[in-house]
Amino acid sequence: MLLGGPVRDKIGLYTHPPRTSDTVRAAADAVEVVESGHRALKIDPMMISIPEGPAHYIDGQISRKGMEDAWAMTAAVREAVGPSIELLIDAHGKYNVPTAIDLCRGLEESNIFWFEEPVPVESNHALQQVRDKINTKISVGERIFTRWEFIEIFEKGLADFIMPDITWTGGISELKKISTLAESYYIPVSPHGASGPINAMAAAQVMMSTPNFYKLETSRHDLSDFNKFIDEPLDIRDGDLYVSDRPGLGVNLLPDALKRFAIEGFAG
Ligand SMILES: [Mg+2]
Repeated sequence: MLLGGPVRDKIGLYTHPPRTSDTVRAAADAVEVVESGHRALKIDPMMISIPEGPAHYIDGQISRKGMEDAWAMTAAVREAVGPSIELLIDAHGKYNVPTAIDLCRGLEESNIFWFEEPVPVESNHALQQVRDKINTKISVGERIFTRWEFIEIFEKGLADFIMPDITWTGGISELKKISTLAESYYIPVSPHGASGPINAMAAAQVMMSTPNFYKLETSRHDLSDFNKFIDEPLDIRDGDLYVSDRPGLGVNLLPDALKRFAIEGFAG
């Protein structure tokens, strides 16, 4: 209500199956996500061929086998979930320009919905080069933190979707401002989400008042573990999150639960 009132009665989610190097397993896991009611899911089928981990970048390349394995896994997932499920691919900002283009051209055979962060975030010129050579829609924004950085994305038409993370952008006000900017360019917003229930609920509250909303990201289809940390369980049905009309975010953290599940030595 404080952000202008709701324009929808629920928040559509998209989510991730577990990471695996097994193509048969990936297809079965994707089917499990669809059976939970979700209509969109995201995978990074290249990650299994980048042994150094998700944050690593040396030359922006992937082996030919890694590329072919990614195409095969994506095709298997598409085959398993059918043509109408939105299949999103996350490149995690790891590739140089020609690698990103080659990768995406093979993935396009599986009718992917978007190609996320094809190149590292520092060069919008590189993003433009990829943009010019692929047909798939592009999503960027989890590594972009303020409204000013998004302006060039909009002005140069570098993305079809943006995906700011409410925590990393600095909170509710900045996500709302970025979303309103995006609305002016007719670009949908799909907040990034890879952490806990407060991140999800805060982004959901902003998206309730945001007309240009696609879907909210969650890291798994069954979020019941989140409920151990909050005083009101999340209401998720058939891939949609229903936002409580309780004050504030609608949920509160339980400090005792944070202590109970704390990893020893992680916090002082
Ligand atoms: Mg991502």
